[in-house]
Amino acid sequence: MAVEKTAVIIGSGIGGITTSIYLARQGYRVTVYEKNTTPGGRCGQIIRDGHRFDLGATIYLMPQLYRQVFESLHIIPDENYKTTPLTTIYKLYFGDGTELAFTTDKNHLKEQLESIEKGSYQQAEKLIKKGYALFQLSISSLLGRNFYHLFQFVTLKNALLLFKLKTHQKHANYVKRFFKNENLRKAFTFQNIYVGQNPYTAPALFSILPAAELTEGSLFPTGGMFSITRTLLSMAEAAGVRFVYNEPVIKILTAKNRATGVVLQNGSTINAKVIVANADLPYVYKELLPDRHSANRINNMNYSCSAIVLHWGLSKAYPQLEHHSVFLAEEYRDNLNKIFRHQSLGSDPSFYIHAPVRSDATAAPEAYDTLSIIIPSGHFKENDKQAWNDLKNQARISVIERLKKIGLTDIEEHIKFEICYLPQTWKNSINLTRGATFGSLGHNIFQMGYFRPHNRHNKYRNLYFTGGSTHPGNGVPLVLLSAKLTSERIIKEQ
Ligand SMILES: Cc1cc2nc3c(=O)[nH]c(=O)nc-3n(C[C@H](O)[C@H](O)[C@H](O)COP(=O)(O)OP(=O)(O)OC[C@H]3O[C@@H](n4cnc5c(N)ncnc54)[C@H](O)[C@@H]3O)c2cc1C
Repeated sequence: MAVEKTAVIIGSGIGGITTSIYLARQGYRVTVYEKNTTPGGRCGQIIRDGHRFDLGATIYLMPQLYRQVFESLHIIPDENYKTTPLTTIYKLYFGDGTELAFTTDKNHLKEQLESIEKGSYQQAEKLIKKGYALFQLSISSLLGRNFYHLFQFVTLKNALLLFKLKTHQKHANYVKRFFKNENLRKAFTFQNIYVGQNPYTAPALFSILPAAELTEGSLFPTGGMFSITRTLLSMAEAAGVRFVYNEPVIKILTAKNRATGVVLQNGSTINAKVIVANADLPYVYKELLPDRHSANRINNMNYSCSAIVLHWGLSKAYPQLEHHSVFLAEEYRDNLNKIFRHQSLGSDPSFYIHAPVRSDATAAPEAYDTLSIIIPSGHFKENDKQAWNDLKNQARISVIERLKKIGLTDIEEHIKFEICYLPQTWKNSINLTRGATFGSLGHNIFQMGYFRPHNRHNKYRNLYFTGGSTHPGNGVPLVLLSAKLTSERIIKEQ
């Protein structure tokens, strides 16, 4: 028998920890079981030889969304954790050797854009204004609310809303209307990769991403993104939540239309009134629940791309790199095709570098550097025959060559150590289906809103989901929102 007001949460990612705070503050006795020895999941941390790495998430995007969720938890940014606004959000390096600093300094942005294409600054302003209006509309009408029934979603009003949100247009086509220059078109669409999408096929709704960056700016939390995890964790512990690490859940027990408890790898059974799965939703359906039909349906959905990540501890500092740098491939479109059509990786890929020492000297020993290189790649398929290690080695050579071109000529000899994550590593360490890091489920319009797997199981009416693979989607700000929405639903329904 389930005990009154008890909750078990499977996984201590951002979604799991945040949900635990809401529930504990409503009087639930909450226990979080985490398969790994440390918290945070994709917002976790690695420290080695004085070098500190954010495991996955590095960009603090959409600060207003953090504020909105944190306000409801009485967490005050810059009181509970410190942030620094970044004037240069990132520097873009195009395949033809030219550069562009995406910056909140309007004069500097104008100067750069106008030197690339006359009149483009005004066009960029228009694009950003429209994109930010879409962002606000999408939060209030699509992403920031629970849909309890199909007819709350499928209404004439929402059909018009989806039209307004530009879900019928491809992002790359939409941006063509604003700029003639190919590099500018790329600069305002490549952000689709944040949610694991191809800008040539993703809806123009995602013009919200660069618009949010340039309107709200980007922050860096002192101590890295893990300081968000740490802040949430201390709030949860203060509210009485119990965290049990190194304790995978291997099964969710069900009876009729209820989930009655979980079985841990150590063999014990824990009963609870409410169960919340923060582990990847498709994995939970496939591996922890008995219903094959739903698991197969979700398994056949569209999945986001993955990423090969190289964390480098370096015996030299490279101040030439900004805090965030994005290197776009010379064969940009071909590279995207390799990722999204062939689920693979091109030999000369696009990549992103996080250099936290620029804003926080404590991320590396003095005069040394800490870099994380994120190379978006295809996810892996069942029975995948690709030689991922070879693809990684080739990409590594290409990254080093690209860095040499901007003056980091001796970087290879200063790599003291490398920690590498391949698509399989994401699956093995976090249980992410197909190692699809930015979802795992993709964010096409048929997998958003009511069409994304719901935050409550259809049959087991006390089994809830929180995290990147349920509503509203992936990325720390949306996952925070997911925890808020799921918690509100639990409090309303249980
Ligand atoms: C390379 C990379 C770069 C990213 N960059 C950014 C960025 O710059 N900005 C941003 O906002 N977002 C970014 N993201 C996305 C962001 O990290 C995720 O959206 C977010 O952290 C996901 O949180 P979650 O709550 O869904 O849980 P997850 O992080 O997926 O955590 C789930 C937890 O469940 C645990 N678990 C799984 N199975 C079990 C089980 N059976 N029993 C017990 N525990 C289990 C896992 O170990 C894990 O701790 C990035 C992600 C990656 C991988």
